[in-house]
Parts: sequence; C-alpha cells; structure tokens
Amino acid sequence: MSTAFDKFPPIEGIRWFNVAVLVLTPLIATYGLVFVPLDWKTVIFACAYYWFSMIGITAGFHRLWSHRSYNACFPLQIFLMLGGISAVQGSCYFWGRGHRSHHRWTDTEKDPYDSSRGLLWTHIGWILFKSKLRSGPVDSSDLGKDPLVQWTHRYYFPLAAFFGYALPTLIPALWNDPWGGFCFSAAARLTVAHHCTFAINSIAHYLGSTPYDDRLSPRDHFLSAILTMGEGYHNFHHQFPMDYRNAYLWYQYDPTKWFIAVCKFLGLASNLRVFPSNEIEKGSLTMQLKHLKQVQDSIVWPKAVDELPIVTWENFQKESKSRPLILVSGFIHDVSEFIDQHPGGETCLTRNSGKDMTASFFGGVYRHSNAAHNLMSMMRVGALAGGVCPPDQTIPPAQVLFVATRHQDSEILLK
Ligand SMILES: [Zn+2]
Ligand SMILES: [Zn+2]
Repeated sequence: MSTAFDKFPPIEGIRWFNVAVLVLTPLIATYGLVFVPLDWKTVIFACAYYWFSMIGITAGFHRLWSHRSYNACFPLQIFLMLGGISAVQGSCYFWGRGHRSHHRWTDTEKDPYDSSRGLLWTHIGWILFKSKLRSGPVDSSDLGKDPLVQWTHRYYFPLAAFFGYALPTLIPALWNDPWGGFCFSAAARLTVAHHCTFAINSIAHYLGSTPYDDRLSPRDHFLSAILTMGEGYHNFHHQFPMDYRNAYLWYQYDPTKWFIAVCKFLGLASNLRVFPSNEIEKGSLTMQLKHLKQVQDSIVWPKAVDELPIVTWENFQKESKSRPLILVSGFIHDVSEFIDQHPGGETCLTRNSGKDMTASFFGGVYRHSNAAHNLMSMMRVGALAGGVCPPDQTIPPAQVLFVATRHQDSEILLK
C-alpha cells in the first residue's frame, strides 16, 4: 500500500529546531483555544497582526525581495521586513534564495519543494527533515548586498523571537490579556500563517487549472489565493514571476497586488513591473487552442475531398436511379438514411435524386442552416468530375475555422 511518505527522499536527520517551532506553536494555540477565554480585543489584534505577517511574506519576502517586482521606499521596506520576520519562516535572505531556487529549478531534484515528491513533502516535509537534496544554485548577489536583508539575516533569531512571539504577547498585555496574546496573537496566528504560506508550495502545485502553460506543476486556484492573500494564481506567477501581480484578471482575488498598488498611489512604492499583455495573452491563447484541438480531435468530420471517388455525370445519373443521390456544391450525397428525417419532407429528396440542388440548398428553395450544411457534408459519397463551387459552399461552416499544428520541417498547415 502506498503512503504519503513513499515519495520522500531518503531521510538523513531531523531539523529539531523547525520541529519544535512547528509542533509546539500549534500545541500552544490548541491549549489556548481549550483553556484561555477569548478577549475580543485580542482576537481583533491577532487578525490585524496576521495580516501584518502575511503581507510581509507576500508583498515583502516574495514579491519585493525574491522577485524584485517593484521598488519600495525604506519605511515600507522596514514595515514589510518586520512583517515577514513576524511570520517566523526563516530570514528574508534564506527565504528569497530558496524561493528563487524553486523558480529556477521547478519540479526537479534541485527544487527545494519539488512537487514530484508529493503534497506532504512540499508542504512541510522539506522543512522538518534533512536529506541529501540540495537547492539548485541561483543568483542572489543583490540580496547579499542589501544591508537590510543582511542585517536581519544576522540577527534573525532574536528578531523572530521578539516579533513572532514576544510583541504579540506584550501588546494584549496592555489590556491584561498576555495569555490570550501568547496563545492567539502569537501561536494561533503563526500556525495559520505557516500553513497558509506552505500551501503555496503544496496545494498551488497540485490543485487548479493551467491557463498559461501546462508543462510544469504550478496551478491557479481560488482556494489557494484565499489562503495566501492572492498568491494562488501560481500558474500565472511561474510564467511571469517578475510581474507584481499574481492575479492578472481584474476579478481575481489578489489583495497583495491591491496593497502594492495602494502603496504606489501613496508614493511608497514605484516601478511596478508588469509583463506585456500581448505576451500574457499569447500564453492564454496557446492553452485555449490546445483545449480546442482536443475537442476538435474528438469530433467526427466529413471525409476529406481527396478520399472521395471522382464520379462522372453519367455514373452519377446511373447510380441515382437505384438510391437517392443529391448533388450540392460539386459533392454527391447519399441521403437514403436521412430521407424520413428531412424537415422539408421526403418527396423533395426522392423527386430530385440525380439533380444538382446547389442553388435550391443555398436559398433557391430554402436557405439551409449551418447545422444542415454540416450534417449534409457527412453524407458525401463522391465528388463530381469537373464540379467546381465557391469555398463558402464547399467548406461546411464547422470547418471554416480549425486548429492545426505547425511543423518546422513539413508543410505549414495554418497560415
Ligand atoms: Zn511554485
Ligand atoms: Zn515566486
């Protein structure tokens, strides 16, 4: 029987510090939920502090420092850096290098959260266990030269202890709820923030659609966007990582994008990077065409013209005596299976066997629908020798547009 651990790499040890943080923190939160009375002021503060931590991760560690998708003034950098540190997910330097490695080596052995190792490994296994796997190399020289990133890397542990645990305990102590602060603003907030962020490495590579590229695992899903303040449009993000948006469409949920846009409006952020819409639309169209090609390939189409026998007028006349054959647009149609279903009645088919009904079909008697034209083309049994008609009469409406593949070294099918 397979288990969630089957795809894990060979484990060489346990990262005890991480285990302590990721086990003790939810235990403290659970203790608080059971034994500590809820103070609504602490609950509101915990929610606000959660937002501070998450925006520090999404707008700070991720979009600002990992991807340089915009510029932030120094006060905004301080705000985002402290928010990110309060989420207790490692220093910005550690976080950014790991994340760049994930983008550079997605779905390979060098991807620190390689999706082929399963949901459990990408969610938390890589944090808890030591293995031989090493993150692939990336250029992080800019982070190495950034004084704020380097200073907070050097003093990460005292900073994380203060902003992750002490401050969210001390502030509710102002209204005499230090235990509530410790259990809810610190421990419960951290537990939720941890697992919501981890969901980007696990769920966002597993659940959802691939509207821009389906070669790799990243996916777009509303659920992962809800959990991560808009980071769940992960297929888009892996295609266009330098874009300050994760959600491209206006109605998609990306509060981090809105936060950055508001910061720009207030003069705190600048140089917001966006990929050209033209290139984004190309990715989207490619996937739509791929889907349409699959639909097209699942449909039964009329015989190709070169598969039909060429029939002389004399043979057409002779054959039409024994079965109902109708000539339309230079094609001979055997309508015997269709006679009793013809909405215009049986007789106009039987009476006109052996005749050219092109003009009648296209409006002389009745201007037939696109569906009628498509259906009739399925009854083709031959092409009349010398029968030439304009393309709008010979090509059924369903075949005017079609999806074809370009081949480098053979004929170009689609111009
Ligand atoms: Zn990813
Ligand atoms: Zn990213």
